Amino acid sequence: MFITGKCHCGNISFELDWEADPPEIPARACDCSFCVKHGGVWTSNPKARLAVAIRDVSLVSKYAFGSRTATFHVCSRCGTVPLVTSEIEDHLYAVVNVNVFENADQSWIRRASASFEGEDLEARLARRQRNWIGDVRIRSGQ
Ligand SMILES: [Zn+2]
Repeated sequence: MFITGKCHCGNISFELDWEADPPEIPARACDCSFCVKHGGVWTSNPKARLAVAIRDVSLVSKYAFGSRTATFHVCSRCGTVPLVTSEIEDHLYAVVNVNVFENADQSWIRRASASFEGEDLEARLARRQRNWIGDVRIRSGQ
């Protein structure tokens, strides 16, 4: 099943190849200070494959805070945050924002809240390596 997503203006888009059809998509409303402010709800699946296309990289703002191990890709034209990446041991992992999905049925999405406060850095990176999308390609330009 291919799930497509994009920011509001279309500058950042992606195709997520999710194994199951119909997929059951766990969605986590993260309680970190940044996600609370912009309302990001994230999903990932270690077996999924993600292909991201960016039309104009000059219109993508990369934001990191705290441990600075995760990078939020913010479209600076429309303000949407379609994905977060984390580079761990030279490997790129990602989660995507279910609010930017274009073709997903809402009934596939299992929403829950999540709190990663108190997790130390080592545990955090290990969790990402286990749970985040581990096959991520980002291409830019057309
Ligand atoms: Zn945009």
